[in-house]
Formats: sequence, structure tokens, C-alpha cells
Amino acid sequence: MNGQKKIAIIGAGVAGLAAGIYAQLHGFRTTIYEKSSVPGGACMGWTQDGLPIEGSMRFLAGTQEGTPLYDCWNEVDALRDTMFVNPDSFFTVEDSGETISFCEDLDTFCSNAEKISPEDSRLLQQFRAFVLKAQGHVLQTQKPVDLMSPLEALRVNSANGEVNKLLARLHNVPLVDFAQKFHHPALRCAFRQVLPPGSTLAYLVLCYAKFISGDIAVPVGGSRRIIKRMTDMYLKNDGELQVNAPVKEIIAANGAARGVILESGERLLTHWVISACDPAYTCRKLLQDRYAMEKKLQLRFAAPEAYPTFSLVRLFFSAPADSLPLARTLSFATDVIPAAGEGQSRLTVTQFSDDPLFVQKGRAELCADVPMPGKRAFKYWESLSVQHGAYQVEIDRLASAVQLALEKRFPEMKGQLKYLRCHTPMTYADRLNAFHGSCVAFVPTAQSRPAQLTGRLPGLSHMLLAGQWLGDTAGMHTALVQGKFAVQRLCHDERILWD
Ligand SMILES: Cc1cc2nc3c(=O)[nH]c(=O)nc-3n(C[C@H](O)[C@H](O)[C@H](O)COP(=O)(O)OP(=O)(O)OC[C@H]3O[C@@H](n4cnc5c(N)ncnc54)[C@H](O)[C@@H]3O)c2cc1C
Repeated sequence: MNGQKKIAIIGAGVAGLAAGIYAQLHGFRTTIYEKSSVPGGACMGWTQDGLPIEGSMRFLAGTQEGTPLYDCWNEVDALRDTMFVNPDSFFTVEDSGETISFCEDLDTFCSNAEKISPEDSRLLQQFRAFVLKAQGHVLQTQKPVDLMSPLEALRVNSANGEVNKLLARLHNVPLVDFAQKFHHPALRCAFRQVLPPGSTLAYLVLCYAKFISGDIAVPVGGSRRIIKRMTDMYLKNDGELQVNAPVKEIIAANGAARGVILESGERLLTHWVISACDPAYTCRKLLQDRYAMEKKLQLRFAAPEAYPTFSLVRLFFSAPADSLPLARTLSFATDVIPAAGEGQSRLTVTQFSDDPLFVQKGRAELCADVPMPGKRAFKYWESLSVQHGAYQVEIDRLASAVQLALEKRFPEMKGQLKYLRCHTPMTYADRLNAFHGSCVAFVPTAQSRPAQLTGRLPGLSHMLLAGQWLGDTAGMHTALVQGKFAVQRLCHDERILWD
């Protein structure tokens, strides 16, 4: 027990909720302050016109029983008694009259692709060997490296041994370069489209390896159910959650964080502050630039070439379930769709009808994504948002163009599609205070370097960062693990045994 020291946690996303649960379990008294009316952050779902809508998650990492990441999800009760949907494919691409599907059976993927392009056989077999080897990879969730002894760090590193060596080598290969090696245009297109721009071959190999081994899947009920379980777990352990409670400022005095001031003016004094929202926003707005992030994290925000962020415009539709594409996620060519001042000639759509909870009265969600990577796209949407009416005009234009493209590709949907809403990079910026309106933190590129970040702010004690921005790759699982790591660092400083 630690005399019930108080912690203010800013943000009830996955990271904030995870931090809250672990801190309550270790005897702290925590309050999570969340600016929105509901917890969840980027991990969002809602009901519209009676139809459950998944707002973010396509896949969750850590769904295979017996892995350390699965255990972590269970510690925060996110997946209790949860069934999983294992879609047939990770990603499917139509191009040049062919369909390439990164399907759950690696041999089927390779043999189908070889049939389409025998001359690419050698490269496909090489890819197959990489994926098979990467299946042995285990994500480190035990504790942050900065809390490990040299021997522990060595042990953790060697647990992945040869796989780490392979991934380090493939990290230097941009996925676009690997794609370019294929003779067949459909394969070139498939390897370019499968992950956000800038991604590495290592990232694809790892994601696909996890998918085929069942460690990446879709929990039934989606994001909303995960967040509900985590929130229930937090409240059950006497955590306090305040929604509609935006934090305006972090109180800092004599080199230590002392609490938070809410937008309402309320001042709350605590022993510790964990900021589980964007670090750039935390330093700039909440700490008014008085304290900076650790150098390695600063570098990421300052070098967009090596550490690009990724966002999108996501348009949500409801459609008859029997008219939806068979693949869960499909990328196909379209007529040019004007987007962020540039033309896009492909769309990626995801459908959710393989989860029975998402089908209502024969209809299900179909969402269409138009990529909006990096600062330029964000600035485009930001400038529209300050011109009266222009933002909505652009959304309407995009929604019509996308609906036309969907009806052209799926003629059976004509007259049956119902447009529900649209999220742009501004949605994520306004709602989450996310840097450049990003959906996911930094995309791992060939120029990015893994870094052991500590979540600490030099010169400011009793303050920790948590969340997806601290990982080498983003996503809900990273937010979870970083929420846990923040509390482990806090326990370390308070000399509390972690069990
Ligand atoms: C469209 C989309 C698709 C995605 N697809 C996937 C996927 O398939 N798989 C996957 O693993 N991940 C996916 N992600 C990413 C994943 O959702 C995020 O990585 C993860 O949820 C981030 O969690 P977090 O807790 O670090 O941050 P956030 O979820 O951003 O949480 C930060 C919280 O802080 C709150 N906040 C901000 N400022 C304040 C303030 N001043 N006061 C109080 N509260 C504040 C915000 O409201 C928010 O709730 C997707 C994200 C999006 C948007």
C-alpha cells in the first residue's frame, strides 16, 4: 500500500484506462479526466439509425491465448469471454483485372499469386519465408526497458533472437521498394496498398505473420465492447472517471507536477500526473512549453520524413449486408476522387458483416477510407475548417464522389447505400487533440529508428506520458502496453513492488 497517493490521468483512451486500472490495482487513488462525453478516445464505436458502427478498429493485436500481449488485455479485462472473428484475409487488392488477397493461409496466398505471376515465384517464396520466420516474434510487455537490468534487457532481446535480426534487416527496406521488384502490376499494387505510405517490409511481414497465426483478429462487438469492459474494470476497482472534463493545464511547481486545472476552473492537487493524450499537445498546451519531451521523442515530432503520421477521411455508410464485398478490407481502383486538393484513384473499404453484432435488419456498416497522410493533408482540412461553410461543402463533395465510386464498383448497392457521416483529420484533431489529426501515431519507416523512450519529461518529476505515441508502432495494443509501462515507472519511483 502507498498511503493512497493520488494520480490525475488525462484522457480515457485505451492508454488512460489501462493506466487507471493498473494504478488502482497497485493501491493508488486515480481520477481520469476525459474531455469527451464518453471514454474510448480513438478507439470508438456508436449506434446510428439503430445500426452499430465501428469507428476505428479493423484488427486488434494480441488475440492469441498464451501470449504476453493477450495476458495484458486480460489484466485490464478487455477480452473476457470474447469470441473472435478471423476474417479470411488481412487485406485484398483488385488491380489490373486480378485479385490479390493476403489470406489467412500463407501457402494459398503464395500459390494464388504465383498462378497470376509465375515469374514472381522466387520473390513470393522469399516473402513466405520471412513471414514464417516472423511468426516466432513475441511483443515485449513485461516491463519497460529503462526499468530492466542489463541482464533482463539481454534476455528479452534474445527471446526474439533470430527474428529480431531478420526484422532489423527488413526494416531497412521500404515496402514501396519491395513492391517495385514484382513483375506483375497487381502484385506491385497489392504490396504498395496494404499498409500506410512509408511503411517498411518488416512491418508488413510482422503484421501478416501475426494475422496468419491468429494473434491479430477482430473481437466480436468491436471497439465499443473493449472500452466498456475496460471502463467497468476501472470503476469496479474504485477508479473515478470524469467525462466532459477537459484539462486546461498541468500544475507544475518546483520541478514537479502537482495536479491539473480543468477548463471549468477547478484545481485538483495530486501526487502524480499521467498524460495519456498526445505528447506534443501535452507539452505545448497543457504545460505551456515550460517543459519539453525527452530528446528522442522530440526528434520524432520534428522529422516527418522519418516519422510520418497517418490519417484519413473515413466515410461511413450503411448497406444491405448481402451486397457487401466478400473481403473484410478491399482496395480497388476508381475514377479520380478529388481529395485534399489532389486526386485519389483508389478506395479502401472495410465491411463489418462478419460480426453478427454489427448486422441489424439485414444491413451493416461499410466504411470507405481516403488516405490523408501527414501535415499537408491536415493543413488542407484545417484551412477549410476556418472558412465558413467550406469544410462541409468539401465533405459533401467527397461523400458524393465516394458514393458514386461505390455504386460503380458494386452495382447491386445502387439506391441501397445510406451515407451516415464522415470523419476527417480535423475530427481527430478536435476530438482527441491528436497531432496533425492523426489516426495512428508514427508509421515505422526505413529511416525511423526504434528508441527506448521513457515517457518522462526532463526537469519535471511526478509526471509521465502514456499512449500510442511512445511505441515504435502505433495501435491499441501499443496504447495498452504504454499505459501499463507508465504505472510501472511510477511504482518504481515510489518504491512499490510490481506484482
Ligand atoms: C480510423 C481509425 C482506425 C484505427 N484502426 C486501428 C486498428 O485497426 N487497430 C488498432 O490497433 N488501432 C487502430 N487505430 C488506432 C488506435 O485506435 C489508437 O492507436 C489507440 O486507440 C490510441 O489510444 P491512446 O489511448 O494512446 O490515445 P487516444 O485514444 O487518442 O486517447 C487520448 C484521450 O485523451 C483525451 N484528451 C485529449 N486532450 C484532453 C484534455 N485536454 N483533457 C482531457 N482529455 C483529453 C481524448 O479525448 C482521448 O479520449 C485506429 C484509429 C483510428 C482513428
